Amino acid sequence: MIRPNSIEKILLDEQTIARRVDELAAQISADYADADHLMLVGVLKGSFIFMADLARRLRVAHHVDFIALSSYNRGTVSTGAVRLIMDTRASLTDRHVLVIEDIVDTGYTLKYLLQTFSARNPASLRACALLSKPERREVDVKVDYVGFEIPDVWVVGYGLDYNDRFRTLPYIGALKREVYTKQ
Ligand code: 5GP
Repeated sequence: MIRPNSIEKILLDEQTIARRVDELAAQISADYADADHLMLVGVLKGSFIFMADLARRLRVAHHVDFIALSSYNRGTVSTGAVRLIMDTRASLTDRHVLVIEDIVDTGYTLKYLLQTFSARNPASLRACALLSKPERREVDVKVDYVGFEIPDVWVVGYGLDYNDRFRTLPYIGALKREVYTKQ
């Protein structure tokens, strides 16, 4: 498998990710079996591959929509504030909304999203993240479905980037520390 020089190691390979996405899809399908109007809201750009794989494995009818937020200026350095860049096209009112995130790090982004969405009176509101870094959490936020808990390293691939690079690697790899600390 091709491994660019900047990747320290592969944390989650394609098969491992696929198996876990299958499990998440089965769990979500069971949990929403009786729910009308399931709406998946993917957080761009990082969730686009996870969202596509997860949505195609669901066995319940659903709609897809997207939102774009920004909490990082450049590279891996947080700017603190969360910015809404693009809102959903559809109304979330009376929908069963499931937010699809690539990764929950400090938790600020998801917390902001859940607060913003709950003000729109959805029928229900939950969150699903492929990855979570529990040791980095700064705010208390509930993630209803988590793919994998990972250590405090910058990861790329399967939708996740570093300065918009590495998004389409088929696996999730840890970036070499010297790449993201020399800015
Ligand atoms: P939070 O608000 O939870 O600190 O940050 C969430 C966002 O930070 C994620 O949606 C993602 O865009 C970015 N992020 C946090 N950790 C990583 C990481 O290890 N790799 C990548 N590519 N993005 C990350």
